[in-house]
Amino acid sequence: MDSSPSPIIPRDAHCISRKNISKNALNVLYRLHEAGFRACLVGGGVRDLLLGREPKDFDVATDATPEQVRRLFRNCRLIGRRFRLAHVLFGKEIVEVATFRAAGDDVPGRATDEQGRLLRDNVYGTLEDDVQRRDFTVNALYYDIADFSVLDYVGGMQDLQDGVLRLLGDPETRYREDPVRMLRAARFAAKLGFRLHPDTERPMGELAELLEGIPPARLFDECVKLFHTGHGVASLHELRRLDLLRWLLPPVDAALQYTRDEGAALHFIETALANTDRRVAEGLPLSTAFLFAALLWPVVVLHAQVLAHEGQPDAILLQQAGDEALRVLQSRIAIPRHLQLLTREIWEMQPRFALHQGRGVASLYGHPRFRAAYDFLLLRAQSGEPQAAEDAAWWTAFVEASPEQQQGVSAPAGEGGRKRRRAPRRRKGKGEGVATPAE
Ligand code: ATP
Ligand code: MG
Repeated sequence: MDSSPSPIIPRDAHCISRKNISKNALNVLYRLHEAGFRACLVGGGVRDLLLGREPKDFDVATDATPEQVRRLFRNCRLIGRRFRLAHVLFGKEIVEVATFRAAGDDVPGRATDEQGRLLRDNVYGTLEDDVQRRDFTVNALYYDIADFSVLDYVGGMQDLQDGVLRLLGDPETRYREDPVRMLRAARFAAKLGFRLHPDTERPMGELAELLEGIPPARLFDECVKLFHTGHGVASLHELRRLDLLRWLLPPVDAALQYTRDEGAALHFIETALANTDRRVAEGLPLSTAFLFAALLWPVVVLHAQVLAHEGQPDAILLQQAGDEALRVLQSRIAIPRHLQLLTREIWEMQPRFALHQGRGVASLYGHPRFRAAYDFLLLRAQSGEPQAAEDAAWWTAFVEASPEQQQGVSAPAGEGGRKRRRAPRRRKGKGEGVATPAE
């Protein structure tokens, strides 16, 4: 006799309420169900609802094929080659609909490369098959629209309760299939405050190097999710603890280890990420260029120190050091070109803040990227760079002064103009604080 507990948790035995599911996701679920298909909410949406958190998005799993889904929804687009998916579009909201897929080495049509990496996974299967191809037990829970029950075939509810992230199946095989699962483990541990099950953590030391084979565009996306979704500081700590930073952002990891003052470099990045986390909590927009400017700043400073003996002016040094930092990272993470340009500008404007009088002040203030560069200066000051603190105090007074006072300062320097002018007095009542501006 089978004594294993039922995988079905009825509607009155869990806390998911349709009130907390987006109207659009419910529409998709109902329409599929009415057309005679199975339709479940799955993944992060179910996990976050069960934890009482607000899901980032809602993913749907169904036994309808992508083509059948497309026939049901006019506002539908099929995407992906490796995983064929349907996106149902409602204005800005996208509900992702995936067809149940089979997992396992013995499934024909499922291809892996010589390292065991999964190349194709388009073999459709049952819901029970679909469960097994998910990454973590807490991501393998289904909310069934047919009877509002939660389906748990893998002990995900218990792991949710215990705060444990546990990879399904044999961890080594699962990491070889898709090494990005190691980064996902770090991300969910950071986001949820969960700990990794020892079996899930153990193979990472040996397998982390497989991240070298991941396309740089995918690593860019992961990087943004790790650092720009409200738990950036925790992500950094988790990546360092698991020694994954070495593979994700090699120059940053090296700079943190080899810089003369590791504490200061780490403090700088932590301060930047803490500001970003605060902005996410407040619903403020974020700038990806600013994120990379901050993550790479210790690398830029280090390169600049190495180049310094060549005796070039600061502006040139920073330009060369910045180019080098971006070049080194580029082989690992594909930062889009327009973001690289913005990142560079933020760095290159930094030495200009040492200027406290003359026309240069007005031209810097009028620069289209002044706000981002100024916020970066505040960040440098906040994390304890001494010269930056002095410049930040001066520029904050300038920014907050009246236009007449500002004009007085930025008039052309006369005789003896090499001396630093006193900053205009600040207008009262404005709050100060480091911001990460929107692009
Ligand atoms: P969030 O959206 O909050 O970042 P999520 O768990 O929804 O978290 P998604 O990347 O949106 O993560 O993926 C949705 C679901 O698809 C996951 O919960 C998981 O079940 C499955 N999944 C995603 N990526 C993988 C992967 N690399 N390997 C196995 N399963 C995956
Ligand atoms: Mg999701």
